[in-house]
Amino acid sequence: MYKSFLIKYAEIGVKGKNRYLFEEALVKQIKYALKKTEGEFAVRRTDGRIYVDAPAEFDYDETVENLQKVFGISGICPVVHVEDEGFEKLGEAVVRYIDDVYPDKHKTFKVAARRARKNYPLNSMEINTELGGILLDAYPEMHVDVHKPDILLNVEIRDKIYLYSEIIPGPGGMPVGTGGKAMLLLSGGIDSPVAGWMIAKRGVKIDAVYFHAPPYTSERAKQKVVDLAKKVAAYTGPIYLHVINFTDIQLYIYDKCPHDELTIIMRRYMMRIAEHIAGQTDCLGLITGESIGQVASQTMHSLAATNEVCTMPVYRPLIGFDKMEIVEVSEKIDTYETSILPYEDCCTIFVAKHPVTKPNLNIIRKHEQNLQEKIGELVEKAIAEDELIVVR
Ligand code: ATP
Ligand code: MG
Repeated sequence: MYKSFLIKYAEIGVKGKNRYLFEEALVKQIKYALKKTEGEFAVRRTDGRIYVDAPAEFDYDETVENLQKVFGISGICPVVHVEDEGFEKLGEAVVRYIDDVYPDKHKTFKVAARRARKNYPLNSMEINTELGGILLDAYPEMHVDVHKPDILLNVEIRDKIYLYSEIIPGPGGMPVGTGGKAMLLLSGGIDSPVAGWMIAKRGVKIDAVYFHAPPYTSERAKQKVVDLAKKVAAYTGPIYLHVINFTDIQLYIYDKCPHDELTIIMRRYMMRIAEHIAGQTDCLGLITGESIGQVASQTMHSLAATNEVCTMPVYRPLIGFDKMEIVEVSEKIDTYETSILPYEDCCTIFVAKHPVTKPNLNIIRKHEQNLQEKIGELVEKAIAEDELIVVR
């Protein structure tokens, strides 16, 4: 029944040259989402509108589901095409459309005609009145409400005539690619995939870095991170995932530093390495899944200690979220089931029974001095052996 989709997007704040860039990026992301969808599609921009056309058979549910993953889309309107074969035929098509889409006729409606082609024999006002009358005759249960109708029936006069009334909500946000790029510290947990998703939703392209510690962390734990990146990539487009072997650094810290400070010192090295890779790959910031007070390494004191090693902005979109709220988003974006798989993302021998919750920066810095001899070389080696996986 449907032959195209009208794509709605929030236009507020996107004017002039920015609007053009916004639309370009949106079209690109729509095409990317449709590439994975069963069927043939064409994306076109006409009169300041974006349409997705499906000339042949296509999977409606899958198409809508994939379009709902494109940031920047606020609404998706399935459109019925009617051949222009005179006004009488149009009236019949409109009556049929309402019957197909709204089995229950106890509804108010309004017709909103728009002529993209001015040579149509009736003007917009006349079309509204005439079609309104035809619908009232066909369905006496229906009533007109011009202010808050249940059904706003749009009739667009083009080479064909387009009918649409439903708006399926999109994810909102800005198209990926309009907001620069950032490096996500992606672990196997619940939080970091959600954090990456939230920043990408604002139009930011995402690269990711994962620190693994074989053989203390398994191949399956790494695969889980790749799987999570894939789930996020369904929204963001391809993600360049850097896998950094962190084992020797962790063992060295374990050997040289007090065990209750292990996590903080490890986190500081993760941030340093992530910032280094970010700088080499045009990223303008780091993203983490941290939230105040969630664990010992995320108290205000610990966050200050972790943050201190970076000059790049660190975005922590979950900072004020409760776990429940984070879980809710992770269920919505379908990362939750993968995140709760049991494969450890950090070996228990590296986690102290009683980690410091109020690390003293001076003491942390002093203990990091214990690492002076070899840490530079180990960090360099870890970065040099960066394994890059392109996740689609
Ligand atoms: P998550 O659920 O995202 O794993 P978490 O609650 O387990 O978070 P931490 O382990 O303290 O919290 O990690 C805080 C943040 O540090 C994570 O959200 C993530 O951004 C980053 N991080 C932690 N471990 C790793 C890792 N192995 N590789 C990459 N980033 C990591
Ligand atoms: Mg974690």
